[in-house]
Amino acid sequence: MPIQQLPDTLVNQIAAGEVVERPASVVKELVENALDAGATRVDIDLEEGGARLIRIRDDGGGIPRDQLPLAVARHATSKITSLEDLEEVGTLGFRGEALPSIASVSRFALTSRPDGAEHAHRLEVDGGRAGELSPHPHPPGTTVEVRDLFYNVPARRRFLRAERTELGHIEEWLRSLALARPRVELRISHNGRQSRHYRPVGGDGEHLARVAEALGPDFTSQCLAIDHSGAGLRLHGWVGLPTAARSSANQQYFYVNGRAVRDRIVAHAVRQAYADVLFHGRHPAFVLFLEIDPRRVDVNVHPAKHEVRFRDGRLVHDFLYRTLHEALADTRAGLAGGQPA
Ligand code: ADP
Ligand code: MG
Repeated sequence: MPIQQLPDTLVNQIAAGEVVERPASVVKELVENALDAGATRVDIDLEEGGARLIRIRDDGGGIPRDQLPLAVARHATSKITSLEDLEEVGTLGFRGEALPSIASVSRFALTSRPDGAEHAHRLEVDGGRAGELSPHPHPPGTTVEVRDLFYNVPARRRFLRAERTELGHIEEWLRSLALARPRVELRISHNGRQSRHYRPVGGDGEHLARVAEALGPDFTSQCLAIDHSGAGLRLHGWVGLPTAARSSANQQYFYVNGRAVRDRIVAHAVRQAYADVLFHGRHPAFVLFLEIDPRRVDVNVHPAKHEVRFRDGRLVHDFLYRTLHEALADTRAGLAGGQPA
């Protein structure tokens, strides 16, 4: 075969392989877009675990009519314009990849009414083929509808799990987002029934109310608040006491500048800090936020953006370890001569 340039739709479908693993990844990308647009309220409607329908409506800044086609075009973004911007990016998105990828593997519609506009417009995209713009009733803000995810990619569709499993993954992502954005109201409905409602909480002191809502009283009644700064870093949030430890690592939420990440350096520092207060095989629960100069961390490591690379990993590791070790000191003293949990 001669070398040929691939058509855009196919390029998007290939990229979708990295960004859109399952319905939960679609929900994550779309809700992140809503948050980047300044939404204070996001409604998430799902059918059949998201496989049949994912509809996300927000009250954010919206998209002007003439920009709707760009929103679903590849590598088109309003969030960065230069490499310098990328180095200090403060939004959750910046790659301009999510909408074109999602639209290439679903029946997709984007409806938006920007701030100050009288009317909304809608753009439908079917398996990557965009239709015409049409006027559409809609309050200020944006709705994205994703129907029949992977309908044109049977290999992917076959990998979808049972409705409950996919819903579980979606709810887990939303829990993670809800923990980081206590002021944003999130409503989730599944097959026409409300399944979760995170009410907005005000003020910094109220953040714990959202944590309680997301994780339940087992965590919040057995945790310590942390807020420590040093070396240009700040770590704040809550760490579970040894009594709140779990048999799996399923209550561990770590954010770097508001973005949920999984990171080996972080995992190692936390494990070490807890080493002498937990039995082998027990896992600490925590909700921790690291604030760091964006220039000291690279968020452009993976298309799905749940990994980061710290410029000075050793320093971050030691800061985390020392802060947590110190916070658990009383626990350790209480254990002297006793048994770990
Ligand atoms: P990225 O988030 O990386 O910029 P996306 O493909 O997710 O890329 O979105 C493309 C662009 O569409 C965004 O940069 C933004 O300008 C616009 N957009 C997407 N979703 C929304 C939304 N819910 N509200 C306002 N603008 C949006
Ligand atoms: Mg995005």
